[in-house]
Amino acid sequence: MQVFESADTWAANFGGGPAKNWAMIPTMGALHQGHLSLIDAAQKKGYQTVVSIFVNPLQFNNSADLEKYPRHLDNDLKLLAGVGVDAVWTPNIETIYPENFKEITLDLGILDQIFEGFHRPGHFNGVVQVLNQLFSAIQPEAVFFGQKDLQQCLVVERLLQAYFPQIHYFRIPTLRAESGLALSSRNERLTSQGKETAAEIYSAMMMISNNLSTYATVQKSEIERLQTLGFEIEYLDWVSLPSMEMASFQAHKGGFTGRLGETAIVFAGSLEGVRLIDNLLIPSV
Ligand code: AMP
Repeated sequence: MQVFESADTWAANFGGGPAKNWAMIPTMGALHQGHLSLIDAAQKKGYQTVVSIFVNPLQFNNSADLEKYPRHLDNDLKLLAGVGVDAVWTPNIETIYPENFKEITLDLGILDQIFEGFHRPGHFNGVVQVLNQLFSAIQPEAVFFGQKDLQQCLVVERLLQAYFPQIHYFRIPTLRAESGLALSSRNERLTSQGKETAAEIYSAMMMISNNLSTYATVQKSEIERLQTLGFEIEYLDWVSLPSMEMASFQAHKGGFTGRLGETAIVFAGSLEGVRLIDNLLIPSV
């Protein structure tokens, strides 16, 4: 497994051109099985894999959150070597944001004003800028992202359409613990009791998705239940995809087809001071 810090090292391998048959998996480290499931998916498609590890300050709207973000590079490298990753890029901040760094512009429509965009102002612009830098340096044939960050996936789709139409894109389902808790680097900041309680996010989303005909009532009671358990809720809503506009039972039953028929329950909230997000896709009925 090749571990490199300078983008020049990578460019030297490919003469500064596209990295044919390579898939890139961008991460912020503190890796867990959820990250490894993206690598596994890329390997099963026959790609060589390059994983980037970079905690991107531009996507943190809250400096305390950035400081507290877990970092375990040695352990990450062991995990990656163990699953046969081919290359790991650990760029430093000057590599990603050099003095002459210029932001790209990308129209995100309302995506950067609703849900994560609303609660984390500037977050998606930070995501767009870092991914532009990562993709431009590596020039992968494919990229793999987790549905765990559903709204981020929608942003990535727009970025690829506008700037990297040649890159293949894969969205991989969320890996969960047996309890239903979505694996996340942030979970390690929860106590063991907190992890048990956090699994209630999944049961709340399931409860809503199983009772869409009485959505408003069930949503309210699940929010109250989670609040009683100690959650501070930012949102727990049912949305249409890919617009993320509010979904309704009539519209859902009203004959959407294919991809447009997808709706999702989306959640964000804090427990024990740790901000958690999750979502559940609901196929059209
Ligand atoms: P992060 O390190 O949090 O930026 O995540 C890197 C990538 O891993 C993103 O595409 C995430 O959506 C994905 N990811 C994080 N958690 C999971 C999970 N539980 N299952 C699948 N993918 C995940």
